Amino acid sequence: MNEISQKIFLYNTLTRRKEEFIPNHPPHVGMYVCGPTVYGDAHLGHARPAVTFDVIYRYLKYCGYKVRYVRNITDVGHLENDADEGEDKIQRKARLEQLEPMEIVQRYTNSYHRNMDQLNVLRPDIEPRATGHIIEQLELVKKILKNGFAYESEGSVYFDVENYNRKYPYGILSGRRLDELQAFSRELEGISEKRSPYDFALWKKAQPTHIMRWPSPWSDGFPGWHLECSAMGARYLGETFDIHGGGMDLIFPHHEAEIAQSVAANGKQPVRYWLHNNMVTINGQKMGKSLGNFITLDEIFSGNHPKLEKAYSPMNIRFFILQAHYRSTLDFSNEALQAAEKGYKRLMEAWNTLQTLTPTDESTYDANHLRNACFEAMNDDFNTPVVIAHLFEAVKTINNAKAGTEKLDATQLQILKDTFSTFLFNILGLVDEKAGDNSRLTEELIRLLIDIRLEARARKDWATSDRIRDQLKELGIQLKDGKDGTEWSYL
Ligand code: ZN
Repeated sequence: MNEISQKIFLYNTLTRRKEEFIPNHPPHVGMYVCGPTVYGDAHLGHARPAVTFDVIYRYLKYCGYKVRYVRNITDVGHLENDADEGEDKIQRKARLEQLEPMEIVQRYTNSYHRNMDQLNVLRPDIEPRATGHIIEQLELVKKILKNGFAYESEGSVYFDVENYNRKYPYGILSGRRLDELQAFSRELEGISEKRSPYDFALWKKAQPTHIMRWPSPWSDGFPGWHLECSAMGARYLGETFDIHGGGMDLIFPHHEAEIAQSVAANGKQPVRYWLHNNMVTINGQKMGKSLGNFITLDEIFSGNHPKLEKAYSPMNIRFFILQAHYRSTLDFSNEALQAAEKGYKRLMEAWNTLQTLTPTDESTYDANHLRNACFEAMNDDFNTPVVIAHLFEAVKTINNAKAGTEKLDATQLQILKDTFSTFLFNILGLVDEKAGDNSRLTEELIRLLIDIRLEARARKDWATSDRIRDQLKELGIQLKDGKDGTEWSYL
C-alpha cells in the first residue's frame, strides 16, 4: 500500500484512544455517516457533521485511499420518542402541511442538498434511503430473531437487550452498563409490549392511521429507527467496515443499538473506527425550538433571524466549523462568527497576494516546513484548527514577501502556493467566495456589452459594434455571432 502518502491517527470512540488508521482492505475505505432525517430545513446542527466528515472524506482521498462514502437519508420510522412511541416525524409534518409524506421527504432532501452544496460539502458516493431498503431491514430482523436476540410482541419485534448482554457486552460504545441503564429508561410502569424497558423496536406494528407502512411476517408496520443504518451499512460496505461517523448525540442509543443489531445478526463488530463530532451550542445554550435559538442554514446565510446581527456566508460558516477540532464543542455567537469571517478573509487575501508575488533569487523561508506541519496536524486526528493556525503563520510570510522583507525563490514560492491550495481548497474544502462573485460579475458585464453591441447593430452603428468586439478581443474575450445570438468565450 505504498500509494498511501500519510500515516493517519484517529480517535476511536469504541476504544477511547487514538489509533493508527489501517483499513480492512487498503487502499479501499468504507465510510458510513448517519445522514439527516428529512422533515425540516437543515440547521447548524446538520452543518457540523456534514463539514466534519466532508473534510475526513477529502483527506482520505487526498492521501490515496479509495473511499466509498455512504450517507443515508432517513425518510421513515423516526418517532418522536427515540424509537418506539409517538407519531412519525415525517408523517406529522405531512399531516400539518397536507402533503404526501414523500413530498415532505423530497422537499427537505432537496433543500438539504442545496445547503450542503452551498457549504461545498461533497456529495456521498451512495445516498441510500431507508424506504428503499425495507427488504434488507426485514432480512436483518429475521436474522436477529433466528439467533434468539429478538422477540415478537403484538405484531412488533423488539431487540432483547438482556439476552444479548448475556452473550455480548451491551454498551461498549457509550460505556453505559445495563444495570446503570435502568436509571435512564423513563417508562414503563404497568403494561408494555416490551419485556424490559431498554429493549428497542426493530419492527413496529402500524396503527390504523399510520401512512408509511409495509407488509411483514409480523404485521403491517415500519422499521425501528436504528435498523436502517445497520442494514444499509452492511449492504454497501460489508458486515465489518472501516469508519462509522455521526454526532456524539447518536452514540446512545442509536449507534449502540446499531452495534447490538449487527453483532446479534452476524456475530461480529460492524465497525472498526467509530468517529463522533461534538455538538453545537448557540450563545452557550443547546439549540432548540423552545429556546428561540433554532437557526436554519437559510436563515444564517440570509441573516433573517432575530439572533443574528447580519448574514453569514456559507464559507464563513464552514471556516468557523473548521476552526474548532471536531471533537470539541462549538459555540455559535455573532462575535465568534465575525471573528471567523475576518480570519477567512485574511487567508483568501493572502492566497490572492501569493499569486502576485514574483520569485527572488534566494530564499529566507522554508515552505516545506509549513507543508509538513499541516500534514502532521491532519494526521493527528484531523486537527483542522492547527492547520489553520499554521496557514495564518504563513500569511505573515506572504505579506513580508510582498513588502520585500522576506525572500521566496521560485521553488519556495511554488511549494507555498501548492501548500495553500492543497490545504485551503482541496482538504479544508474552502472556496474563495469573492472570486466566485467576480466571475459572475464578469459574465454579467460581458452580457451587458453584448446587449449594447446588439442595439448598436440594430441602428447600424457599426463603429460601436466593432469597437466593443475588438476591445473585448484585446481583453482575451471572443464574440461569435450566430443565428441564435452572440456567444462569447475566452480566447
Ligand atoms: Zn444512523
